[in-house]
Amino acid sequence: MTASDAGADSCVLIVAAGRGSRFGGETPKQYRLLAGVPVLARTLTAFAAALPDAALSVVIHPDDLELYQTAIAATSDAARASLSPPAFGGATRQDSVRNGLESLIRKTRKIVLVHDAARPFASIELIKAARAAALAHGAAIPGLAVTDTIKSVDADGAVVATPDRAGLRAVQTPQAFDFDLLLSAHRAAAGRELTDDAAVAESAGHRVHIFQGDPANMKITTAGDLTEAERRLSGDLTDVRVGQGFDVHAFEPGDKVWLGGVPIPHDRKLEGHSDADVLMHAVTDALLGALADGDIGSHFPPSDPQWKGAASSIFLAYAADRVRQRGGMIAHVDATVVAERPKVGPYRDAIRERLAKTMKIPVGRVAIKATTSERLGFTGREEGMVAMATATVRLPAGEPE
Ligand code: MG
Repeated sequence: MTASDAGADSCVLIVAAGRGSRFGGETPKQYRLLAGVPVLARTLTAFAAALPDAALSVVIHPDDLELYQTAIAATSDAARASLSPPAFGGATRQDSVRNGLESLIRKTRKIVLVHDAARPFASIELIKAARAAALAHGAAIPGLAVTDTIKSVDADGAVVATPDRAGLRAVQTPQAFDFDLLLSAHRAAAGRELTDDAAVAESAGHRVHIFQGDPANMKITTAGDLTEAERRLSGDLTDVRVGQGFDVHAFEPGDKVWLGGVPIPHDRKLEGHSDADVLMHAVTDALLGALADGDIGSHFPPSDPQWKGAASSIFLAYAADRVRQRGGMIAHVDATVVAERPKVGPYRDAIRERLAKTMKIPVGRVAIKATTSERLGFTGREEGMVAMATATVRLPAGEPE
């Protein structure tokens, strides 16, 4: 990939300010979970993968700041690194895009791609094609030949005309433009209601090129669309694997135990090369086990001084990223801690939250249980702690045998 192929000349504006009135429910569709990941997060991750050097920005509704932050936490690290702070949308989509463009002025990129947050399936090929077409033509949009016959109707729903299908295209996003062209067209069109960014460019007298769209690039508009998208995503992840992890650390003098990334006050600490977070180590091994991808020691050798005192969240986040790099998802993590003391129960929900955040999955997919060993054995004598974990991971069909 050359520097320009990577999108260094481009910025991407994701429009996520809509309230989703056609969708129903409380949460706007772009923030709903799709196979465990917010729709907006999937969209951003797709653009960062296609154009790693492009500047990303999202236009949001001012009421959605918290939803936005949650979605951003679930994007790839690459997407987060490319993101500018969000711009706030206006009364219409057109106002929102114009606000977004104004917020990007200082990015001084030649090309801008405008994309609906609710289209999470834009492929790398489609995104790259949009940028290339804008470079060649100044204004370019993806379009699909219309297969259904289309009718023009009057206010009563009666047919008034049957346009020739051959001359019609159904258009999608990303729509891509020379940045200055689109910004000045939007400024000129402010106050008028146009249906998409191409119409804004057309109204300023620009010729808009159509390149081949992608039928898979669906827009999530209704609750049924979300179900369909969910079915499509999980339908691909049919290779279900279960991994297990087991870890033991001994106690030594200290004042707290790190468990699942949460410090629990205690009259001892766990001994180990890193922060000795026995629970995170077990969960990390369960994830690596589900991938048949070695164990925590093979990825982070205790002999390597850089992991001395390291926060174990680094290991767990790494293992979760390995799942996503394989195109998979973490369906569920279940773990058990064995100890007489400290009591884990009061910290259970804090630990679940912390583990879920580290793995970038919803907290409802993380279970933590605690038990004693009835004073038997080394855990019963409070010489150390045990953690056991099971991870269920779904991978795309066709993974290596
Ligand atoms: Mg360990």
